[in-house]
Amino acid sequence: MNHPTALKSAVAVLSALCVQTAWGASPMSDPAVRAMAHDIFEQLIEINTTDSIGSTTVAAQAMARRLLDAGFAAADVTVVGPNDRKGNLVARYRGKAGSKLRPILIIGHLDVVEARREDWTTDPFQFVEQDGYYYGRGTQDMKECDAIAVTNFIRLKKEGYVPDRDIILALTADEEGGKSNGVDWLLKNRRGLIDAEYVLNPDGGGVVTEHGKPLTVEFEATEKLYADYQVLATNRGGHSSLPRPDNPIYQVAHALEALERAPFPFELNNVTREYFKQMALLETPQRAADLRAILATPPDPAAIERLSKDPRYNSTMRTTCVATMLTGGHAPNALPQRAEANVNCRISPGHSQEEIRLALVKLFNDFELSVRYRSDSGELSDHGSDRNAMAPPPLRADVIDSLRSVSAKLWPGAPVIPIMEPGASDSIYTMMEGLPSYGISGVAIDRDDHREHGRDERVKIDSFYTGVEFYYQFLKALTTPAH
Ligand SMILES: [Zn+2]
Repeated sequence: MNHPTALKSAVAVLSALCVQTAWGASPMSDPAVRAMAHDIFEQLIEINTTDSIGSTTVAAQAMARRLLDAGFAAADVTVVGPNDRKGNLVARYRGKAGSKLRPILIIGHLDVVEARREDWTTDPFQFVEQDGYYYGRGTQDMKECDAIAVTNFIRLKKEGYVPDRDIILALTADEEGGKSNGVDWLLKNRRGLIDAEYVLNPDGGGVVTEHGKPLTVEFEATEKLYADYQVLATNRGGHSSLPRPDNPIYQVAHALEALERAPFPFELNNVTREYFKQMALLETPQRAADLRAILATPPDPAAIERLSKDPRYNSTMRTTCVATMLTGGHAPNALPQRAEANVNCRISPGHSQEEIRLALVKLFNDFELSVRYRSDSGELSDHGSDRNAMAPPPLRADVIDSLRSVSAKLWPGAPVIPIMEPGASDSIYTMMEGLPSYGISGVAIDRDDHREHGRDERVKIDSFYTGVEFYYQFLKALTTPAH
């Protein structure tokens, strides 16, 4: 009976079975849910939602139709916005009647960055399945997450699931640009529709993988504040055969050199402290030692300098400002009358746009240079807004615990790590309104395969369906009534 070969093959069969059972146990093997997720994703990708010629209203209405068909009450599904092309969907999943708990709000943007057919291998507005990936504009940023949210609303509804509180889904316009940011508009005009205890924004965070192997599960616990500054020098100019020391191109160049050489000071907050602490457990010995050294009091300047060479660590430990555009002069044979640079800053929590403007003025140390704040819509002002980068909200235990327990099932061994997002998302609007906001996504992307805003954007097919499963389990973990 216990023939070694038989035993071996029995073990092999058994472990194969276990693997299969693990998959088999996953409701994502439910072909109906898979097909629904696929169709919703495909539909969203193929509706052009760019600012130039697209419409988020069309996408919002398509999702509204699906929710209504699944049995959501008409009163709980709304498409609203400032104009025909910038509609936002707000859908409310009703929780237990009489619940005293305030709702959870999920936000996701429907709009996508422009994409030109000639730049891409496939048509960016066709949903293409190829080599284990779905291709199309918005497959990483962030129609995959919009599709995941809509799929799970319908799936939970069909199951008859009753959460312990309402869950609101807002799919919105103009996160990537444009003049009609949907989250901002809803907060200002229809606050009652989306008022919540806290916000989940799948535009941030996610599962970091390498060749498909999960490394970490990141969640965005805070983000930096975006700001542009115009650095301008003007001059009477003249004939280039008679150069003078006053030259606006040199003035701007000197300012940018100063900027290059003087990084903003090192600083930590409760989120970045935890982030570095966790990363020290994963890094190589030298890196880990440096990470511990910057967490010490006082932090080790040599370790800060070494870690600053890594763009991700650098952006996490300080406000960054970088020259992004440059123009100047008007003729090859004339002294320039004007030179201008754009300096783009990502401001750490606790500082305002005006504070950073004044820091630049001081750094450039040239009273003839003007340093003006440039708003999102391009207006220039001598005074930056006093808008502060938001202080990180408390890390809610219910959110973190639910995230940890579901992650442990789907990506065992990958630690859950809080991050400060160096970019900016719609969470800035909800955070400014006092709604704690967390960037949580269940979609895994290889760390060297980030294609948001770029060409041939794609997501692994498996990642997408695991993401569906993640949000299904995560929402249940967050809203299953305690007994
Ligand atoms: Zn996005």
